[in-house]
Amino acid sequence: MRSRPIKGQDQQRFGDDPLAVRDTDHYKAEYVTGFVDKWDELIDWKRRYESEGRFFIDQLKERGVREVLDVATGTGFHSVRLVEEGFETVSADGSPEMLAKAFSNGQSYGGHILRVVQADWRWLNRDVHGTYDAIICLGNSFTHLFSERDRRKALAEFYAMLKHDGVLIIDQRNYDALLDGKYGNKHTYYYCGEEVSAEPEHVDEGLARFVYRFPDASTYHLNMFPLRKNYMRRLLREVGFQQVDTYGDFQETYQGDEPDFFIHIAEKA
Ligand code: SAM
Repeated sequence: MRSRPIKGQDQQRFGDDPLAVRDTDHYKAEYVTGFVDKWDELIDWKRRYESEGRFFIDQLKERGVREVLDVATGTGFHSVRLVEEGFETVSADGSPEMLAKAFSNGQSYGGHILRVVQADWRWLNRDVHGTYDAIICLGNSFTHLFSERDRRKALAEFYAMLKHDGVLIIDQRNYDALLDGKYGNKHTYYYCGEEVSAEPEHVDEGLARFVYRFPDASTYHLNMFPLRKNYMRRLLREVGFQQVDTYGDFQETYQGDEPDFFIHIAEKA
């Protein structure tokens, strides 16, 4: 029997051999409108606020940060939060669809006018002006870079856009646990409750392919590079950050020994 085409997959254009798609430039084809809209419909921002707590905000305030560049704006969750907390915020992303959604979310959640700029991280200094006290790259975004050259280039661009004592906050999924089989095959990741599940469909040292299932039975995929924690810490130090602290985030639904996410706080001075 022929299987029913999976809604969303065609729009995402992974082609005949999805496991071969290991390309930094593919991120724009993955975050298609259907996926983005569903994500925002189902993931209640209030619940996300609650589960994330004040961690990022406190880290920024403790350091006296005023100007923040959100380089992975996505649909705007962190940018809106920053604006609400009084930070002067510029919201960048390489995807114009994401920025359009972020802009309209800014208006819907509190009537904020976000300052959005389309910019790919690899050419950030060309397209975004000024220097910042802090750069945030959150929501497991850095995982979209598939070559070390791209990762180094992006981090060098972030470094250059920070003031002399600036800070970069960057998070990532705990891929070590996934690569080392510590979660077991059956483990399912749930975002903010029960509505959207994300499960690894394929994992090797060069690719983590996740399937996202929505309550209407539609599924979408993301191909990501499985960053190891210590590799990421090393890269941050090698591009020049003097101090790198890594936190484990235990606030997701999974309550095992291993955190689902790591958060790196990299200081320039
Ligand atoms: N921070 C948001 C959140 O937590 O909801 C969004 C995160 S979303 C997982 C990742 C975002 O990174 C997407 O909006 C994508 O367009 C952006 N992105 C991925 N690779 C990029 C690149 N090379 N340059 C600029 N943006 C990129």
